[in-house]
Amino acid sequence: MSVNKLIAGNWKMNGGLGLLNLYLEKCSKFSIPKNIEVILCPPHPYIKTASNLFENLQIRIGAQDCHHEVDGAFTGDVSSKMLAACGASHVILGHSERRNFYQHENDLIYKKVLNAIESSLTPIICIGETLSELKNNQTLKVLELQLKSVLQDTLKNTEFIIAYEPIWAIGTGKTASIEQINYVHKFIRETIKEIYGIAQSKNARIIYGGSVKDDNSKEILNSPEVNGALIGGASLIPDDFFSILNQID
Ligand code: PEP
Repeated sequence: MSVNKLIAGNWKMNGGLGLLNLYLEKCSKFSIPKNIEVILCPPHPYIKTASNLFENLQIRIGAQDCHHEVDGAFTGDVSSKMLAACGASHVILGHSERRNFYQHENDLIYKKVLNAIESSLTPIICIGETLSELKNNQTLKVLELQLKSVLQDTLKNTEFIIAYEPIWAIGTGKTASIEQINYVHKFIRETIKEIYGIAQSKNARIIYGGSVKDDNSKEILNSPEVNGALIGGASLIPDDFFSILNQID
């Protein structure tokens, strides 16, 4: 695969203007190589400021979730249309924390994906298995269900990103082995091929997430099966985030 590597930082419910400014400072000293695409996903209140600050730099802004409706009586929620109006270009959907804490099931995630696409946001669709599913050899079965409930006809010829994030690796300091990552990414690409055909499967981006740090990212990010990474904890420290970018050959 010769597509550019994509590195997305998921700040979760952390960071703010101070962190945005630290990123800005870092950008003034480090130019992001042209073959790397960077997306920062701060909490919703900072999306507009972030998209203004990074407008002319090589960083795009993503959100961490959106509602599945365009508008309505949904106190506390934001729609993809609103996020796009604030300058977001991407949105993370189906993150395991949303699946676990907010009961986001596969069918709801599909509705959110559709809504995001209607607002011209590129969805970063997270899938992943729990530790007990891994131990019981259920990984591919779980991933297939998560994938197939989202990859329906409506997404044919549409841009989306799949983030393989084993739940047991998120925020734990444990990373999947490169063998596991390559094996799963191949499976995901095969599944996309089965659904949409070879052309779309070749262009689809499949990124890895789960405790990616500068000291473990070289092998992962330079694997031809891996199109990039979704980074949580390390994206809160710009030096660490940029040293992960530096690992890409
Ligand atoms: C994440 O939250 O998507 C993630 C991968 O977190 P971390 O890098 O901290 O494991």
